[in-house]
Amino acid sequence: MASYVQDFSEGGKDQKDLLGGKGANLAEMTRLGLPVPPGFTITTDACRAYMRTGHLPPELRVQVTMAVRRLEDALGRGLGDFHEPLLVSVRSGAKFSMPGMMETVLNVGLNDASVIGLAELAGDERFAWDSYRRLIQMFGRTVLDIDGDRFADTLDEAKAAKGVAQDVDLDAADLRRLVEAYKEIVRAESGREFPQHPREQLDLAIVAVLRSWNTDRARLYRRRERIPDDLGTAVNVVSMVFGNLGPTSGTGVAFTRDPATGHSGDYGDYLANAQGEDVVAGIRNTLSLAEMEQVSPQAYGELRQAMRRLETHYRDLCDVEFTVERGKLWMLQTRVGKRTAPAAFRIATQLVDEHLITMDEALARVSGAQLSQLMFPRFDAGAERTLLTRGMAASPGAAVGAAVFDSATAEARAAGGEDVVLVRRETNPDDLGGMIASVGVLTARGGKTSHAAVVARGMGLTCVVGADELDIDLGARSMKVGGHEVAEGDVIAIDGSTGEVYLGAVPVVASPVSTYLAEGLDAALAQAGPDQETAELVRSVHRVLTHADETRRLRVHANADTAEDARRARSLGAQGIGLCRTEHMFLGERRVLVERVVLADDDAERQAALDALLPLQREDFAALLTEMDGLPTTIRLIDPPLHEFLPDLTELAVKVAVAAERGEPDPHDVKLLAAVRRMHEANPMLGLRGVRLGLVVPGLFALQIRAVCEAAADRIAAGGHPHAEIMVPLVGSVMELHLVRDDALRIMAEVGAGRGVELDLPVGVMIELPRAALTADRIAEIAQFFSFGTNDLTQTTWGFSRDDVEGAFFPEYLANGVLTVSPFETIDTKGVGRLVRIAVEEGRATRPDLSVGVCGEHGGDPESIRFFDAVGLDYVSCSPFRVPVARLEAGRAAI
Ligand code: PEP
Ligand code: MG
Repeated sequence: MASYVQDFSEGGKDQKDLLGGKGANLAEMTRLGLPVPPGFTITTDACRAYMRTGHLPPELRVQVTMAVRRLEDALGRGLGDFHEPLLVSVRSGAKFSMPGMMETVLNVGLNDASVIGLAELAGDERFAWDSYRRLIQMFGRTVLDIDGDRFADTLDEAKAAKGVAQDVDLDAADLRRLVEAYKEIVRAESGREFPQHPREQLDLAIVAVLRSWNTDRARLYRRRERIPDDLGTAVNVVSMVFGNLGPTSGTGVAFTRDPATGHSGDYGDYLANAQGEDVVAGIRNTLSLAEMEQVSPQAYGELRQAMRRLETHYRDLCDVEFTVERGKLWMLQTRVGKRTAPAAFRIATQLVDEHLITMDEALARVSGAQLSQLMFPRFDAGAERTLLTRGMAASPGAAVGAAVFDSATAEARAAGGEDVVLVRRETNPDDLGGMIASVGVLTARGGKTSHAAVVARGMGLTCVVGADELDIDLGARSMKVGGHEVAEGDVIAIDGSTGEVYLGAVPVVASPVSTYLAEGLDAALAQAGPDQETAELVRSVHRVLTHADETRRLRVHANADTAEDARRARSLGAQGIGLCRTEHMFLGERRVLVERVVLADDDAERQAALDALLPLQREDFAALLTEMDGLPTTIRLIDPPLHEFLPDLTELAVKVAVAAERGEPDPHDVKLLAAVRRMHEANPMLGLRGVRLGLVVPGLFALQIRAVCEAAADRIAAGGHPHAEIMVPLVGSVMELHLVRDDALRIMAEVGAGRGVELDLPVGVMIELPRAALTADRIAEIAQFFSFGTNDLTQTTWGFSRDDVEGAFFPEYLANGVLTVSPFETIDTKGVGRLVRIAVEEGRATRPDLSVGVCGEHGGDPESIRFFDAVGLDYVSCSPFRVPVARLEAGRAAI
């Protein structure tokens, strides 16, 4: 006979799958000899069987009978007994905590007979009737689906009739009448009597708790928290203890350390003469544990002992719920407690110092997400603020500045010393200058991988995207949102960690952890000054991160395009550059040169334009290689569709038409318009870009390769140790790579010969198309390294446009469960990840020493980093500001 029931005395904390979190920990506390009210757990197997078949497994009935009898025998009471009634609570408890999402029924076992027994047992008639009316109310709502307001209204009427405001002012007779009224509600609303048979109450309550696993709100919560739907909940049947039996009774919650700050010592709240729900409801002010010692010294002493025992046993911060019944302590729940990010780091190293855990365990107990929370300045939590709207949190931080609506204004005002927040419908490569000049960026359109989001993250710039309530009127230089009108120059504040947008300035507090990461421990301790708490936090982060660096297998590189980014990345611990996007080097005043390349009538004209770009590119690369001396520096050849460097088609067409009307057409514009029309594409991200561009526009890749080679040769001549690598984007066929590599080898030889050095720059490929992944064995015959461009690989595998989908239909897809997280944020291991795995295996089969990394946005995502470690990549490359997070997560992945 399958077993669906387990007494608390039989289980343990490692059985969360079967017993749920609450049941497993109740069992563990029982095993430890702590005072847990006796009870049993109906396992998640029963819930899964119920979900499958729609009814309880037949064995369960018998097993519950046996468990109830054991309980009755242990306590010397009986369910429904007239003299010595046993009351139980029926509580949900899934593997992962889902606070408030599922149901609980208390006081099961009370009926018209046992209420008398309870009154006798407790010596308190009022208490007994109050317990009974609570049962009918909870049972009616939870089991019989009766609207809870029906009971609440009737309770209010009873108080009004008596002229009192508080529940406690109702006496036993009032409550007895209320019980009758409640029974009447049950009759009227459900068409049946309130069940008097305690076993029927118990069975129905069990089914109600099981059913509550699949309510809409529970499903929604699971989707948001990414908890699988098929786990099911356990049901805990626990003998009731009462905290509301007078002044020597009470109930409370406590932590073994402060979950907000990490300070050691017991923390908690206690409410005398109350039940658990009263603490949560905040009806009366709670007492601190120190004050509890005054009113219930013995129970307090036992509680402290129990808490120390639990912390020693779990070797971590625990939280507990407890009840004191007439001076006797009962432990109702414990678990390893949630904590804030600073507390997580502090507690982890405290426990190492107390020799309770190892450094590996300390590393496992903090996360990259927590570290990044500590890195960014935040708005002062206590400060007043006016919320304008919410968008998507695209790049964390807190930015306050004057709203400006175009990049030129941003640059002009910033040059005058003003902090500005650039507000755009969406950004494009042209906005780069404006973004650099701003303290934050806010867009009305686009998702987390839109241009604004990617560039802002790369720069560590606070950014909120897709705030679609913004109604921007560029002509009027203002925007309307949430009933406010914000004119250019009005101060706004944006929170890149929450996506919130505020009107006016909100005070910002700086992060000592980011000082530590960028400038080292001494600088951060100096900033902390006499603030011991902050100093301790910084030291904790330092210790844990150092351990992560010692532990990890993955190297961490950064995506950096300029020498300045590279410097920042190195100071944050980057061990190389995994992606230098060279297209940013063609913007600004160099744009005209690109235009000249495109418009050239003949080879000579094109070559002249390319020649003009050469020294500029060489300087870019020289600066980068100087900064990254001795470290791998992967330079990607130009990738985006050329039209991004050319004027907007519509604007230019209008300009030309207007000029033609006046009879003064500008021949340059006319020619440019023809070129722009020629290059216009319906799907530019799938068009003439990446290696295709290199093969179709003569001389463009050659120019860049030459610039890299010359810069490297110059560095060698100057005594440096450049490790430049040339990376070819968007390759789909090995033949494409062949052609580029032949060119590269020729240029290397030419430059080497010209400068008297031997140049042997590795030439590698970005794997960004499914076809590249699926033909990795052939590509590896030519490519010396692979770097997964998982942004494009996700786009092309799913067929999702990376620039549009997040705003367009992802919200819907996340709500209906097609997606649990954006695949642009966390790698889709089943689909895109499978391609990665295939490419790694097949690439290495061809070339065992193939270096393999990732430079898509996923390189900085904690969950994705685990996956990249598991599939054996050599490095992850991410935005400079994500580097510390990646270091930490790579360490965690290795333990
Ligand atoms: C990618 O596609 O993952 C990548 C890194 O390249 P980009 O984002 O520049 O297309
Ligand atoms: Mg790409």
